[in-house]
Amino acid sequence: MGEPGMSSAFAHSHHMPCAECGASVAADQQGDHVCDPERRLEYRLFLLRDEVAGFDEGLRGYLDSAQGRFAQWLAARDRRSEPRS
Ligand SMILES: [Zn+2]
Repeated sequence: MGEPGMSSAFAHSHHMPCAECGASVAADQQGDHVCDPERRLEYRLFLLRDEVAGFDEGLRGYLDSAQGRFAQWLAARDRRSEPRS
C-alpha cells in the first residue's frame, strides 16, 4: 500500500532537465539552480559524443570550418604579436 499523499506530491513537482548541465531541476527551483561547471562540461561532452555517432558528416564539416577559423585566428594573432623591426 503506497501513501496517496506522497505519490501525488511527487507527481505534482515537475522536474525539468537543465539545458546547460542536464541536471534534473524542480520547476519551482529553476530560478535558484546554478550549474555545476564540471557537470556542465560532462553533459556537453555527452551530447557531443551523441552527435559524433549520429551525424558524422555534419561533424566533419563543422570541424573543418572550426579548424579553418582557428587557423585564421592563429594567423591573425601571430601577425599581431610579431615584433615590428
Ligand atoms: Zn544546470
